[in-house]
Amino acid sequence: MGPWASRLTGKYLFRGLRFRLAVSYVFFFTILLSFLGIFFRQALRSILDQQTRDLLTEEWSAVKGYLRIDRGKIDWFYDPEDPDEEFIVGRMKQVYLLTDAKGKVLEVSDKYRELGIEKPNEIIGALQSQKAVWQVRKTTEGETFLIRSGPFIDDNHHVFYVALGRSLAQSEGIVEQFTLYYFLWMPVLIISSAFFGWYAARKALTPLNEVSLTAQRITGSNLTAQIPSRGAQDELDRLIDSFNRMIERLNDSFTQTRQFSTDVSHELRTPLTAIRGQLEVALFTAKTEDDYRNAMMDALQDVERLSQTIRAVLLLSQAESGQLALQLQMLDLAELARDFVDQFQIPAEDAQVTLTCSLPDECVIEGDKIQLGRMLSNLLSNAVKYTPRGGTVHVSVALRGDNAEIVLEDTGMGITADHLPHIFDRFYRVPDRNPERGLGLGLSFVAWIVKAHRGRIDVESELGKGTKFTIWLPAIVPVIHAPEAYAAPSETAS
Ligand code: ADP
Repeated sequence: MGPWASRLTGKYLFRGLRFRLAVSYVFFFTILLSFLGIFFRQALRSILDQQTRDLLTEEWSAVKGYLRIDRGKIDWFYDPEDPDEEFIVGRMKQVYLLTDAKGKVLEVSDKYRELGIEKPNEIIGALQSQKAVWQVRKTTEGETFLIRSGPFIDDNHHVFYVALGRSLAQSEGIVEQFTLYYFLWMPVLIISSAFFGWYAARKALTPLNEVSLTAQRITGSNLTAQIPSRGAQDELDRLIDSFNRMIERLNDSFTQTRQFSTDVSHELRTPLTAIRGQLEVALFTAKTEDDYRNAMMDALQDVERLSQTIRAVLLLSQAESGQLALQLQMLDLAELARDFVDQFQIPAEDAQVTLTCSLPDECVIEGDKIQLGRMLSNLLSNAVKYTPRGGTVHVSVALRGDNAEIVLEDTGMGITADHLPHIFDRFYRVPDRNPERGLGLGLSFVAWIVKAHRGRIDVESELGKGTKFTIWLPAIVPVIHAPEAYAAPSETAS
């Protein structure tokens, strides 16, 4: 844990993911708790208020049974022997007002007086509306009461105004107590959540730290290292998987680059050594002008071959590093093949090889005309080059479903099974067979072009009988997002 642990101190601790995770956890938990507290407080208050309202409504209906007004005489009609009735009426009269229809006070309790008696015009207004009115009022000491008032009609159909009240002190007390307990406990909950958050964040991040430690151990020379998957199939495993695949791609790319530079330096060294030899011969052993001329001619030929190799290598490395982007357009592959078969008739005749083709009238696909032309040219030149006199080369193009199929078949010398898997590798030449030495880059190009078009190439060959290349190209090139689009051509080769 060395470097990691030492970095997890001081300033880094507060910028660290663990700290931020824990803080966000506490933050959201606090907000959630506050909202819950406010919500429950409101809910409790409305439940208690509703209870008081229900009680007042009950009392209000009960008033009709107990209160009798006969020609100005007010009488509370109940059995004084019955303690229940006495209690009910006593409680009603604690906060109570009775006025006539003009607002003249007929009876009022002390508590109600304290709350303030309505003005006559307010009472007249309330009676006109004929509805029960609910109000919340406070005494001078701050005690809150819920008042229900409305018309009361006696047996003689006279209208009176009655108001009954009930203290809300008890329900408010309950709400206050709840609030107090809740918000006293909240900091305790928040602190516990902070501890929990800190612990949970550590638990969640431990595998990430392990991944990071493994990643630190991977260096340029140790690119085969892989982070072991945890088998949890979670986000982290996906990250590990992507990371491992990235390392694999890097490793492939490094290996290719190393191989490429080895191949290139080897390929350049051979003609350079030859040129040097020829020049030394010219310098030390040539006597006549012809000797000089011959040595110079040989050197020039090798210089030409050298610059050819450099041009091809440059182009291939541009292609493989993605600098040579495809210029896609709709093109007729049948027409393109026809053009190239025509172009190769003369070299084929020179080599006494019969070049034939079976092409449809039209085979329109999306592709890069120049690169597809280069592909056909490389394949045709190989076929003519590696087919002995009297042989045939046949080219066919056909549309099969969503793919165009190009087949290039010859009756040439063929390739043995041990060489076949390597023919798409850079600078690979089947040894001891070649009439004229090629660069060994033609098929690498072909493979790259096929791969860049998201196509596939297949080769079958039998020694002494011939070789058949089959290429499938999608009629419409799918959009390429992945960076491996321009990976090594050898991967495409089958
Ligand atoms: P070169 O420049 O040597 O032709 P290529 O990459 O085009 O390089 O081909 C690689 C090797 O594959 C060649 O050296 C050749 O031996 C073999 N090859 C390619 N095409 C054919 C073919 N049509 N018939 C037989 N051998 C072939």
